[in-house]
Amino acid sequence: MDTIALPSEMRARAEAERMAGRTVAVVPTMGYLHDGHLELVRVARERADTVVATIFVNRIQFNDASDFDGYPRTLERDAALLEREGTDILFAPEHEAMYPEGFCTRVEVDGVTDLLCGAHRPGHFRGVTTVVAKLFHVTRPHVAVFGEKDFQQLVAIRTMVRDLDMGIDVVGVPTVREPDGLAMSSRNVHLSAADRERALALHRGLDHARKRVEGGEREASTLIQEVRDRIRREAEIELEYLNIVDPNRIADVERVDGPAVMALAAHVGGTRLIDNVRLAGSDPVGADT
Ligand code: AMP
Repeated sequence: MDTIALPSEMRARAEAERMAGRTVAVVPTMGYLHDGHLELVRVARERADTVVATIFVNRIQFNDASDFDGYPRTLERDAALLEREGTDILFAPEHEAMYPEGFCTRVEVDGVTDLLCGAHRPGHFRGVTTVVAKLFHVTRPHVAVFGEKDFQQLVAIRTMVRDLDMGIDVVGVPTVREPDGLAMSSRNVHLSAADRERALALHRGLDHARKRVEGGEREASTLIQEVRDRIRREAEIELEYLNIVDPNRIADVERVDGPAVMALAAHVGGTRLIDNVRLAGSDPVGADT
């Protein structure tokens, strides 16, 4: 595996891959890799000849400075994991290489970023779509692989790719979970043992909603109330948001008649966690965007 730090070098290498007739897949990450990230690499491996993973803790998408400062950084360990999964190129730039003096462009996707995390993290998605647009220009991929765990992000990126005619196949990968159901996240390391236990109530709550819909319940407000009550009762967790949305528009639905995703965010002992579950519709999350 080759490690590249400079955008100009990465772009030249990606161009060479394309000229040689090889397809390129990119997996953008912020590092501190877990099996969820590695699953994205495995999917990328199946989809393209050359797999590029990127590690970049993107300061402009953090709306909380302490979250950015405390974000775990373990480049050597991550590089070893990526190499073992058959990654061809690791692109790991410094902040200054991505955002040199005078950088003043932002990419903003409206509408699908209004609710959920978009409503609670001002500027977050603008930071995400800006860096992903830049990473796409630098790595020139045919395919880009993202996790459904950050499903609003996946939808925002699909929308950006469609609207700006980027011609990239955006692939979503189902959330990889710990054996007890907790969604894998780089932030789980910040959870104390007791908070980790409490955090399981989030997945159980979403799973309850999924089963209620399977059993015939259709009323969004009923499902939301039940899940909110269960999570509060089981773990004393107050949710930041809990919505049932149409995954293509990220707009609230009143009834679960078409495609619907229940999504939540919660602060558990100072750590912000997100999770979601598809309630109806068999397509991958956001695939119709
Ligand atoms: P991050 O490093 O947290 O920015 O995540 C990088 C990519 O990994 C994003 O596309 C995430 O959606 C994806 N990802 C993070 N956690 C998981 C997970 N548990 N399962 C699948 N994909 C994930």
